[in-house]
Amino acid sequence: MSTVQILNIQQAGRDFVLFSDPVTTVRVKFADDSQFTKEDSAAFFRSLVGKPAAIPISNDLRDFFIAVDMWRTPFGEFKVIPFRFATSAVEFNGIDYYRWYEKLRSWNAGRPSSGEPCWLCDEIGEYVTYQSPDWSRKHDWSYDICRACEKRIGLGW
Ligand SMILES: [Zn+2]
Repeated sequence: MSTVQILNIQQAGRDFVLFSDPVTTVRVKFADDSQFTKEDSAAFFRSLVGKPAAIPISNDLRDFFIAVDMWRTPFGEFKVIPFRFATSAVEFNGIDYYRWYEKLRSWNAGRPSSGEPCWLCDEIGEYVTYQSPDWSRKHDWSYDICRACEKRIGLGW
């Protein structure tokens, strides 16, 4: 069972689909798989522009789906029919959280602190500093990541 967010299908591009609501934009870039090309997957959404769709809150690409059929049962449960697509990236407000997961999951998380802007979303508040275990790195070895972004990455604390 997944927690989903409901967004509107805003645009179907050549090989991507864009979902949005007033505060969120999610760009899903498709990839080719054995059954469909990335262009096929994008074309599927062309007739659905303006309609709602559900995608998981989790940014685990292995568990990513898009649902355009959704309803509430008489017991008040929210149900969707998930379709799985091969994707090359899912960008939430321009940030590819899965790529950040792959990058930071083996890094060392420091103690929570507060008052610095998040590297990813610029929110100022509580954050954790992730440091590369590779001490020889001169650049790109430390990032302050806020709690909301950590949750999106899948590295909660
Ligand atoms: Zn953030």
